Amino acid sequence: MSQDFGSVLRRSGLHVTAQRLAVFRAVCATPHISADGVTDVVRDELGTISRQSVYDALGVLVDKGIIRRIQPMGSAARYEDRVGDNHHHLICRSCERLVDIDCAVGDVPCLHPDDDHGFTLDEAEVIYWGTCPNCTT
Ligand SMILES: [Zn+2]
Ligand SMILES: [Zn+2]
Ligand SMILES: [Zn+2]
Repeated sequence: MSQDFGSVLRRSGLHVTAQRLAVFRAVCATPHISADGVTDVVRDELGTISRQSVYDALGVLVDKGIIRRIQPMGSAARYEDRVGDNHHHLICRSCERLVDIDCAVGDVPCLHPDDDHGFTLDEAEVIYWGTCPNCTT
C-alpha cells in the first residue's frame, strides 16, 4: 500500500507532524494494534515519544475518522485504518486474537434498524466473542 500519509492528514485539516505520521503509519502497518503496540513501533522510529502523545495522536486521528477505534469489553482498545464500512470483529476470549468480518447480511444493514427512534446513526458496533481455532485445539 503506497498511501501518502501526509496528504491524508492534510485533507482532514490536520497539521502534519512526525508523531502523527508515525502513529498513522503504525496503525496502517498493523491493523487492530493496541496503543501500547503503537507506542513501541513509534519509539523504534522516532526514538522517544510519551505514551500521552501517542494517545493524543490516536485520539485526533479517530476524531477525524482517519482511523477507527475498537473497544472490546474488558480489553485494550485497538486501532485500524479500515474505516467507513462498519465491518465487525471476531475476538477470541482466550488469546484476544481479533479478526475482521464483513457485515453478516451485506451492505452495512446494521446501521438501518427497524426503528431508529429519530437518531442519526453513524456506527453499529457488533463484536462476536468466541474461541479461535488455535485455542480450541
Ligand atoms: Zn485464541
Ligand atoms: Zn477491523
Ligand atoms: Zn453488520
